[in-house]
Amino acid sequence: MKTYKLLTPGPLTTTKSVKEEMLIDRCTWDDEYKMITQKIRNQLLEIASAPSERYTTVLMQGSGSFGVEATLCTAISTCDKCLLLINGAYGERIAAMADRLGIHHTVYATKCDSIHDIGRIRNILENDYTITHIVMVHCETTTGILNPLEEVARISLEFGKTLIVDAMSSFGGIPIDMQSLGIDFLISSANKCIQGVPGFSFVIARKDKLSMCKGHSSSLALDLYDQWRAMDKSGKWRYTSPTHVVAAFAKALDELEAEGGVSARHVRYHKNNVLLRSRLSEAGIESYIASELQSPIITTFLFPDEDFDFECFYSHVKDRGYIMYPGKLTDKDTFRIGNIGEIYEENTLELCNIIEDYMRGRELPPL
Ligand SMILES: *Cc1c(COP(=O)(O)O)cnc(C)c1O
Repeated sequence: MKTYKLLTPGPLTTTKSVKEEMLIDRCTWDDEYKMITQKIRNQLLEIASAPSERYTTVLMQGSGSFGVEATLCTAISTCDKCLLLINGAYGERIAAMADRLGIHHTVYATKCDSIHDIGRIRNILENDYTITHIVMVHCETTTGILNPLEEVARISLEFGKTLIVDAMSSFGGIPIDMQSLGIDFLISSANKCIQGVPGFSFVIARKDKLSMCKGHSSSLALDLYDQWRAMDKSGKWRYTSPTHVVAAFAKALDELEAEGGVSARHVRYHKNNVLLRSRLSEAGIESYIASELQSPIITTFLFPDEDFDFECFYSHVKDRGYIMYPGKLTDKDTFRIGNIGEIYEENTLELCNIIEDYMRGRELPPL
């Protein structure tokens, strides 16, 4: 099978060495394996600037959404009410979960290309004292917009709310200091900026908050509290753990450290993103999100004109080794290109050349 560079926000392109970790079968009850779990949990705390006296990491089987749903059903009781900040499909998914779980909530939604107004959030909090939690998405992968985590965290702290952050596509690629921001629950998964393979999600939580959540979850498998209690004992997962994925993730964490940590990875993603957007703009393809709101994770590009044939463009690029991502907006024709994973400047340059060639080819009159 031909291999491609994936320009998608997970599963993404991983290193050979990360994939090779999966060639070994491991026992879930063996001490060596349990130590891998404990090491991962501690490394994630370090990356999040979350000291182990106050915070813990809980790993949860399944994709990122399983971690989000586990957090919502465990952290929010039937007496609570949340404010959901929505500006894209992942925020909508949180609202859909809240509906299914019967969580009391109120929604503040903005357009996909804009961020929430802090004054308006203040207003909502001042007018509804029953709100106990705020839930937000950090990087909305739908568009690549970066939501104002610092500002939302500050106001959440000021009003004494519990803050839950879906940092799925940003954690590991953008520095986040959980302790100084006062984030209570942060959710991410194995196959995004840590650059592992898909199979589990993780939640970094304030211990005092999580310890008050016993019995909240109406789901047995997704009970984050029970998962924590079991995992804390010895590092053994409550039910079968994705052993191969866990081993690959441990390797990916070591490689993140070797790269220079989150700040170095952030610089790599950012540089490639700036390069990509400027070269595509020169070729007549503009980004959908204003540059001051753009994340270094993924970019949404507008079709250059009405005659643009995405299928044809996609195959042209794929034939040359790169896989892009279709758009997710309903009102605009777009496609997306991710910067996360094993993608370096040389790959970005090669991709830009391929796209420029394609665009130049379109200008030629048919024979
Ligand atoms: C990837 C992602 C998720 C989780 O999606 P899964 O398909 O369940 O892994 C949630 N939120 C955001 C912002 C994401 O980028």
